[in-house]
Formats: sequence, structure tokens, C-alpha cells
Amino acid sequence: MPALLSIPDLDWRNGALFSRAHDDCYTPALATPAGNGYADAFAATRDFRATRRHLTAELGFGTGLAFLSAWADFRANAPADAQLDWVSVESAPLDAATIERALAPSTAPLLAQLLHALPPRIRGIHRRAFDGGRVRLTLLYGDVLELLPVTDFIADAWQLDGFAPDRNPEMWSAEALAQVAAHARVGTTVAGRFAPPDVQERLKSLGFELSAADSAHASSLAPNTHTAHTPLRGMLARLPEKRAFRQLPRWFSMPHPAPAPSAIVVGAGLAGASAARALAERGIAVTVIDAGCAAGHASAAPRAVLAPYLASWQSPQTRVVAQSFLLARAVMERVGAPLNPCGLLHPVNSDDEWGYEQSIAEWGWPTELLRLISADEATSAAGTPLSNSTNPEGAIFVRDAATTRPAETVRALLAHPAITLHEHAPVARLRHTDDGWHVDTESGRTFDTNIVVIATAGIPAAALPDMPEALASDALPSIPFNATRGQLSTLAFDDAFAGASAVPFTVVSANGFAMPPVDGALCAGATYERERLTTGPTPHDDAVNLGHIERLLPALATCTPNRRGAWAGIRTSVNDHCPVIGPVIADAQFRESFARLPHGPFAAAWPDAPLLPGLFVTLAHGSRGTSTVFLAAELIADMVCGTPRCITDDLLPAVLPQRFLVRELRVGTRE
Ligand SMILES: Cc1cc2nc3c(=O)[nH]c(=O)nc-3n(C[C@H](O)[C@H](O)[C@H](O)COP(=O)(O)OP(=O)(O)OC[C@H]3O[C@@H](n4cnc5c(N)ncnc54)[C@H](O)[C@@H]3O)c2cc1C
Repeated sequence: MPALLSIPDLDWRNGALFSRAHDDCYTPALATPAGNGYADAFAATRDFRATRRHLTAELGFGTGLAFLSAWADFRANAPADAQLDWVSVESAPLDAATIERALAPSTAPLLAQLLHALPPRIRGIHRRAFDGGRVRLTLLYGDVLELLPVTDFIADAWQLDGFAPDRNPEMWSAEALAQVAAHARVGTTVAGRFAPPDVQERLKSLGFELSAADSAHASSLAPNTHTAHTPLRGMLARLPEKRAFRQLPRWFSMPHPAPAPSAIVVGAGLAGASAARALAERGIAVTVIDAGCAAGHASAAPRAVLAPYLASWQSPQTRVVAQSFLLARAVMERVGAPLNPCGLLHPVNSDDEWGYEQSIAEWGWPTELLRLISADEATSAAGTPLSNSTNPEGAIFVRDAATTRPAETVRALLAHPAITLHEHAPVARLRHTDDGWHVDTESGRTFDTNIVVIATAGIPAAALPDMPEALASDALPSIPFNATRGQLSTLAFDDAFAGASAVPFTVVSANGFAMPPVDGALCAGATYERERLTTGPTPHDDAVNLGHIERLLPALATCTPNRRGAWAGIRTSVNDHCPVIGPVIADAQFRESFARLPHGPFAAAWPDAPLLPGLFVTLAHGSRGTSTVFLAAELIADMVCGTPRCITDDLLPAVLPQRFLVRELRVGTRE
């Protein structure tokens, strides 16, 4: 169960921020002899001038000063096409106001951008990007020994810059330092302000060779510290015999990263556009090909809700959607996608209130972001009385929920100089060649590339009349896709609308939803139907949506709109309701390799999963695609480029395409 992150116990001493628990200062680098308030103790340990891709990791994010300084250095010195990744583990994140005060009066030039993007205090991996996406910050909020063993990355440099070893022994324990070595390669450097003998011994036993820091470096690394420690500098000389991270079972083994100069994305809906953007921001030239026009299918929905999935139990689906939601808002803001940050209310009644109270506690989200509120509070937040049954007890409030216009979001994502869009070019054939992938379109155009991302919602497309089946290959038959028709209804009111006070300020959602008006039009939905898969709107489905309004917003139901509109589309999902994201297996070979899965040898004795090199999918985003496509896009780009993986290893099996085949081989059914 994800527990709430601890809130740091802070103290201000002569204007400097101290941790009471560790009796140590957060910002010793501000006290350097240079006195400029922003000297970087680690600048001498790196050189970005010849860098193409660089990954620094650190234990303890603190005020973010080390990251800010490296980012400024990278901006000033790295080549224009270079990429910087920064990974930091932090168990007690500071809030933006505290960081701002701690770093004042420093004029850290990039501070405002960092503070604006700072993730909420929620356990797990948070990804943020800056400078057009070429600087990525991967924050692991949680304990070192909880998150590092399940997070995949290899650092070029480790900065050990937390509180002093005698003040924070856990951070310098043998187990924590084993994690440093587990995320290093031969040649990875290590630098720190402290190197007491026991820390040196631990690092040496893990394969690090330590050298004496030169005197200038030494004085910059350990200025005015309360204990006289020798600064640390070294390099991993040999890999530890046993790496201290958990291996995924072989049937879920990952591709080796192979950054390529170009990639093709098939499908220009939300999934394809977000994948194209994540690859383009990593320096890859991306061609996006769509059978029709961009955002012509499910992503043509006039409005969509961006929210976590509020089930009364935690599941891989709730975890995937929650992490995606937190990422989606950050990416959408950064790329200029339309966002109406209106919040969401989920009315609950006395029957389900207890279950939800339990479930909300299990989320481990701060109460300012997610909490149960009373019926009166809900009415005042919505601006109109809510109902969900004859006896509404209150509502779950999700502060950061929002609405968006998916088609405009697609356009914002595709607006990148490294992305080229080809519309009305159905992909007819995809062939693996000695040099990579050969893509044929129905119009006769051909493309050659090393990386292909299929983002066509679902394959095969037998149930979807508009979608060609050309992409159904031998590689993907084990995925049991479902198609569900859905209709949205829009109700437009003029300025003099008498019932204005009945219109909600927030999304109101419980087995159906109403979104607050944008440009005078409120949107209600949605229907779910598996039998009839046409996309023309119907009066019957409009009546269903108006029924949602009657049930949730009784005052609004009595008002007559000036205009009505409707839109219907098809959602593609799978039965476990998680999206399908990742590399594609060679199906027949996989069956052969893992035929004895239920009774076979120990995990380590199996072969690696046979993968089709360079082929990835982002599919089945169902009714949560506005959120989940963003996590999918980052995950695929991480796999292609070897950037830190944005999903922990325990969650990966819930989204990988081969999970259905693994289920079939194990228990005889894919469902
Ligand atoms: C009624 C309704 C309401 C919804 N409400 C919400 C909501 O409130 N919140 C939310 O998060 N989600 C919502 N969704 C879901 C969301 O819209 C989808 O999850 C998302 O749009 C899926 O995006 P996609 O890119 O995977 O698929 P699509 O947008 O369908 O894109 C797939 C693309 O692939 C192209 N393609 C297919 N075959 C080929 C080929 N052979 N060659 C080239 N191109 C090809 C198609 O032309 C299409 O453009 C809703 C969906 C519906 C139907």
C-alpha cells in the first residue's frame, strides 16, 4: 500500500534551511568561499562540452540545487543537440515555497521553471522535462531501497551529495551504496563532499576505485562543513559480481536500447502524437503516418476528462492511470495543449462512502489533492447541488483533474520541428529487413527506418469498419482487443442563460459525467456499447447522456439548452483495462521458448523473450487515453533511447504486450 511520503521536519538557522531529523544543512553549497550564493561543488567533476547524452544520478534531491547548477552548466556548455538526464531519489520532498526560500537570495536562473514543474508529494516516479525536452528530470519520490531496485537506468556519474554520513547513516549504508553500484557501468564516476573511511571501504568493496581529490576540488567540495571529511572522487572499475536490483522474469525481458536517427509512428491520434513527441524530444527525426487525418478517430472527441481512475480498490490499472495522469498534466502544459484545470467531484452515497474512504487512504496522496468532502462542501465546489442517488453523502474531490480538447492536444504534440506528418496514407505493409523496417503505404509511398511505433488504437481491427487490418501481423494475435462505441453530448447555452447557476464549475463524474462549459458548451457522457460499432451519433445515446445529467446535476436537468450537439467514436481496450505498451514479441518463437512456463526451470534459466527489434506498440488506451498515452510515450522513448525507465519494474508486466500470451501459457486463457 503506498504510504504518504514523510513531510520533512525543518528548521531555519541564520536564514539557512536545516533538517531537524538529520541536524544538517540542505544547502552547504551556498556557503562556498566564492560567496556568490550559487557555487556548484561538483562543477569541477564534469565537462559537458563534448557530451551527447549524459545521465547523472544523486541520492537526495533536497532543494534541487545540484540539478539546477548542472542544468545551467549543461545549457552553457553542452552542444545544442546534447541530452541531459538527471535522476534523484528523495524520501521527504520539500515544497516549492520552502525551496524558493532556502535558495534565496540566490538568483538561480532556472529555479522558477523547476518550481513550476515540481511534482506533488506522491510516492513513485515523476518525470519532468525542460528546454524543449532535452533536459529530463526523473524524480523517484520514496526510499532509496524501495525505488532504486525497481527503477532501470545506468548513470554516467553519481553525485553523493546528501546529508553527512554521520547525520544520515541510511543514505550511506552498504545497501544504499550497492544501489549506486547497481546503477553504474565501468567508468561511471562518483563524487561527493564526504568520504569517511567506512564509506570508502564500502565503495571499494563494490568495485569503485577512489582517488584523492585535488586541493581546489577538495576545498570546493567540503567548504565550511561541520565535520572535517575528505571529499570523495572515484570511478567504477569493475562491476559487482551480484547486481543489487530485481530482475524482471525473462519472459518480460526488455529490448537493448538502440537510439536511431529516425523513427516511424503509425497512427496520428493521441497515442501516436505523444510517442512521436517523446522520440523527437530525444533527438530522433520522426515521420508520423495516418490512414486519415490526424486526430480523426477516438482522439477526435470534442472534450475529454483528465483524471485518475477512482476505483474503490487499488489495482495495476489505478496505478497506471494515476501515474499517467500526473505526467499528462505536466506534458500538456509544457507543449501548450488546451487544459481547463477545473477539478473533479465524484459524488458518493452512504452505501459506498466507507469503501471510498478506505480506498482514498490507500492512494497515499496528500489531502489537498484528493479527499472526501461533505455534501455542502461539494455543492459549493461545484457551484450547484450534486446528487448520485436519493441520499448523497458527499463527494471525492480531485483538485488537479482537468478537461482538454484531444484534437488540439494532438496538434500541439505534433508541432515539433523533428516531426513530419503524412496524412491519408494508410500503412499497408510492415516488413522487417536486414536494415530495419520497411513500411509500404497504400498510396505506394515507402519508408525505411530502424524504429517503428504502432499507435493504431488496436490490432487486428476486424470490429472497426474504418480501420484497415493491414497491420495485423503474426506478432500480435495474442492480444484480445475489444471495441466499445461511446457518445458524448454537448449542450450550449447563450450568455443570458437563466439557469447559469446550475452549471457546474468542476467535472462531476459517477458512472457518467458532465464537464463544465468551455466557450459556452457543456459536455456530458458517455455511453458504452459493444454491439453496435457505428460512429454516427444517435438520439438514444443523447437521452442516456441527459440521464446522467438528471442523476448528477438535478438543477441543470431542468434547463433547456439553445443548441445541442453529439459526437460518437470507438474506444479500443483489453479486458484487464491497462493499455498495451512496449516492444513486440515474435509470437511463434515466444510460444516455443516458453511453452513449459507453468512447470519450467527457475526464472534465470529461461532464454530472453524473443523481440522483434525496433518494433513497439502503444495501443488499447480505452477510455483513459488522454492520460495513459503520455506514460506510454515516455516508456517507449526510454526503451528506444536507454533513458531512465519511467515505470517501476513491478508495474511493467501490467502493460507489456506479451502479458496475454504469458497468461495463456500459464493458465490456458488470455483473459
Ligand atoms: C465517447 C468517448 C469518450 C471518451 N472520453 C474520454 C475521456 O473523458 N478521458 C480520456 O482520457 N479518454 C477518453 N476517451 C478515450 C480517448 O479518446 C482514447 O483513449 C484516445 O483518443 C485513443 O487514442 P489513440 O491514438 O490510441 O487512438 P485513435 O485516436 O483512434 O488513433 C488511431 C489512429 O491510427 C490510425 N490508423 C489505423 N490504422 C492505420 C493504418 N493502417 N495506417 C495508418 N494509420 C492508421 C487511425 O486513422 C487513427 O488516426 C473517450 C473515447 C470515446 C470514444
